[in-house]
Amino acid sequence: MKIDLANIAGTPGARGRFAISERIRASEGAACVGPVTGELTVENAGSLLLIRGRLRARLRMSCVRCLAEGELDLDLEIEEEFASEGAGADIETIDREEPELAAISDYVLDAHEFVRQQVVAGAPMSFLCREDCRGICPQCGADLNRSPCDCAVTPGDERWAKLGELLKDGARGG
Ligand SMILES: [Zn+2]
Ligand SMILES: [Zn+2]
Repeated sequence: MKIDLANIAGTPGARGRFAISERIRASEGAACVGPVTGELTVENAGSLLLIRGRLRARLRMSCVRCLAEGELDLDLEIEEEFASEGAGADIETIDREEPELAAISDYVLDAHEFVRQQVVAGAPMSFLCREDCRGICPQCGADLNRSPCDCAVTPGDERWAKLGELLKDGARGG
């Protein structure tokens, strides 16, 4: 959805409210289940356009330990500022790492791009299928959530004790 902000941008104090429902493509490591929904308010605060609101998304991600897929809800509090100074000029994003991905140009907000950026930025870096996921054995590849394998090493195992000794030696040496 494209949102025309010309009226708001041209009138200090003006504000508009927009219902959002955008289907976005999967970002790296996270797929979106269903549309991202919510509401955004765009307000002309003089030299700034403020975009505030809330977006909700359901993400499908792979567990970093066992690679099993799971879903999580993302509830994003939106608060973005765009400079609106310079009549006729493109509104440029402030404090954005990738200015080339500006979601506003010529006073039109690309809601799809804006939502995509917000979800990508708000998605967790990693996902655990459950707090105590045991992951996959790095040696035999067994899913340790299902059953322990023969090569599973547990804390207290003498191999861990040896590793502890090595680490202690390293600390002394450094
Ligand atoms: Zn897992
Ligand atoms: Zn194993």
